[in-house]
Amino acid sequence: MANRMNIPDAIPLVDLTAQYESIRQEIDRAIAGVIRDTAFISGPYVASFEKEFASYCGVPHSIGVSNGTDALRLALLGCGVRPGDEVLTVPNTFIATAEAVGMIGASVRFVDVDPNTNTIDATALERALTPKTKAVIPVHLYGRPADMDPILKLAAAKGIRVIGDAAQAHGALYGGRPISALGDAVCFSFYPGKNLGAYGDAGAVVTKDAAVAQRVRMLRDHGRTKKYEHDVEGFNCRMDGIQAAILSVKLKRLEAWTERRRTLAAQYNALLQDLPDLRLPTETPGSRSVYHLYAIRTAKRDQLLAGLSKAGIGAGIHYPIPLHLQPAYKHLGYRLGSFPNAEAQSRETLSLPLYPEMTDAQVIRVADSVRAVLAGSALVAD
Ligand SMILES: *Cc1c(COP(=O)(O)O)cnc(C)c1O
Repeated sequence: MANRMNIPDAIPLVDLTAQYESIRQEIDRAIAGVIRDTAFISGPYVASFEKEFASYCGVPHSIGVSNGTDALRLALLGCGVRPGDEVLTVPNTFIATAEAVGMIGASVRFVDVDPNTNTIDATALERALTPKTKAVIPVHLYGRPADMDPILKLAAAKGIRVIGDAAQAHGALYGGRPISALGDAVCFSFYPGKNLGAYGDAGAVVTKDAAVAQRVRMLRDHGRTKKYEHDVEGFNCRMDGIQAAILSVKLKRLEAWTERRRTLAAQYNALLQDLPDLRLPTETPGSRSVYHLYAIRTAKRDQLLAGLSKAGIGAGIHYPIPLHLQPAYKHLGYRLGSFPNAEAQSRETLSLPLYPEMTDAQVIRVADSVRAVLAGSALVAD
């Protein structure tokens, strides 16, 4: 696997091989079944996974699609967002969140985040609204739920659609409720490294709204209502049978894997809490973060990243350049200073290795290395 480094006891950021080894027989059997049934695109395996995932999400409708980016694109269209409409989201996310808006001819605008949660700041959101604003996409970054109540309240008052980006947040809870049931539609990615990952591209839109579900279902498959009847021009955004069969095998284990992620995060917290240079992730009381990433903050981020890399530890930065400063969004006219909280986060954030198969000993080794690098950098600074 490309994600294994050459140092013998190296610890990668994620280890997909370790997970495959733990479920190899069941996965191989599932893949063989799809091939035997030639159920390659859509079909019974996709339908079963959709049912299972809807139930897991606590919503009546789940539509399997080609990837998380297309889930966002189809959810926007399904919610009635049109070319020329404005959609608000945050700059500290993967580009797909904003890209989906551009893909349908709408205009993305950014809103800063709360510095404590790294998720959308509802007060800033209210200030950013214009008469053209049609939707908002809160991102549950790193698996931490955005503060949804003020967003939902504001959206209801202003007639704005809320489309959750839960690509990093399978199974997250906000105030005891699944984030998958909050808003008009919620979008998931099953990119291999996500908390629930396929063995290729896949995604899903989930919703309580039957009309949104019906539109998304139609749009993902060439605007079809029957085999050769097309209500509208749609897309080819269907899910593969092999991916659905793999996801069904993995979904049964997602709760256990999520609990393990939470345990590992708590271990990191306990091991690192006394280090003065670090800010550790927090949780909102009543909410459940699912730790797609365990992201710490430090002004010494670049030294720490370099030191960990020397020690064979695969840390990562999510994300080094906020979207409003990307060349792709230059035309929007934002500058350095436009979103100070998102900018500070991109300078200081560092994701430490975390995956369910990680051992307690590996967590201790990462924490010890963090401590050693920071102690060393203090000496250099003196
Ligand atoms: C992964 C991701 C996406 C895109 O999902 P793909 O399946 O890769 O298209 C969108 N938003 C966020 C926040 C993501 O992390």
